[in-house]
Amino acid sequence: MTTPKHVNGSNCPACAMKLLQTDLKLRIWFVSHVLPQFPDFHVAISYRNEADQNEAYVEHKSDLKFPFSKHNHMDSLGKPCSKAIDLFQLFGDGTAAFPIPAYQKLAVGLPDTMRWGGTFTDLRDYDHFELL
Ligand SMILES: [Zn+2]
Ligand SMILES: [Zn+2]
Repeated sequence: MTTPKHVNGSNCPACAMKLLQTDLKLRIWFVSHVLPQFPDFHVAISYRNEADQNEAYVEHKSDLKFPFSKHNHMDSLGKPCSKAIDLFQLFGDGTAAFPIPAYQKLAVGLPDTMRWGGTFTDLRDYDHFELL
């Protein structure tokens, strides 16, 4: 199965697929808070399986091994249900950006059930938003 590409517009197929593996509260936050302010924002990472998480650890993209990241969370049935998402901005020419001022703006309006990776003291993770 090929992975769909991210496209700007009302229905990004790649984000839709990633959001299916995301906790409902985060899904609602992305659709109702992120997209209205930043319509060209996308979900880079939601759920990471064991192989992906341990690869991210080796590449220093995460300081946690599987299953200790919020990106590794599963529901009671063992279905991927990530409690974290990483966001990026997609330009029309297909390039991506990670705009810290936009992340900061989202962090200011964050519900108190959520936390922004930009406030982590150990490894600042500006594009990362998670449920507590
Ligand atoms: Zn997308
Ligand atoms: Zn993350």
